Amino acid sequence: MLEGCTTLFTAEQIRQRVAELGREIAADYVDRRPILIAVLRGSSVFLADLIREIAVPVEIDFMSISSYGGGGDKGGRVRIIKDLEEDIGDRDVILVEDIIDTGLTVNYLVSALRSRSPRTVEVCALLDKSVRRIAPLPVRYVGFDCPDRFVIGYGLDYEQRYRNLEAILTVDDLDAIAEGPPLEGEPGSP
Ligand code: 5GP
Repeated sequence: MLEGCTTLFTAEQIRQRVAELGREIAADYVDRRPILIAVLRGSSVFLADLIREIAVPVEIDFMSISSYGGGGDKGGRVRIIKDLEEDIGDRDVILVEDIIDTGLTVNYLVSALRSRSPRTVEVCALLDKSVRRIAPLPVRYVGFDCPDRFVIGYGLDYEQRYRNLEAILTVDDLDAIAEGPPLEGEPGSP
């Protein structure tokens, strides 16, 4: 266990839930070859596991965004800094997110994707901090409801670190996980 943190979802719980989501998506998208779009960087781990649980043909693509004006909380202004490679016109799109907090980021991204005339756009989020939602947002696939706590692991970082933890942890003590050598329980620790 990582110092200053508590396990919220174990690697096994995540694996099982991701497999269920994959089966649901496969059943919903037979013969539709959806494009799963992941938002870099946090969603990359989830996407990699999710697509291997979807037993129908899929494509993937990536976007990268930056929040400005202090992040999603402060107005949700988002800029696309790496755009899609694929044309999504008339395609079935699934936006894959690691975590939805206020919903402002996903709201912006769904609007941006819709403006390109896809056939459908759905959202698949591993974690949903639903109590924090500002803008109403239909999220078709949700892995887990998430408490209003800062979480790390399984792609989610604290200052670019801890994305390689297998589990998802809540952070009880930010000072404990801040800069420094690998901590006991972190990959790379002695
Ligand atoms: P929203 O626009 O929904 O408020 O913010 C969503 C983004 O905030 C996520 O994609 C993620 O980058 C970041 N975020 C929100 N909550 C957490 C959290 O608990 N841990 C981490 N690492 N990032 C979070």
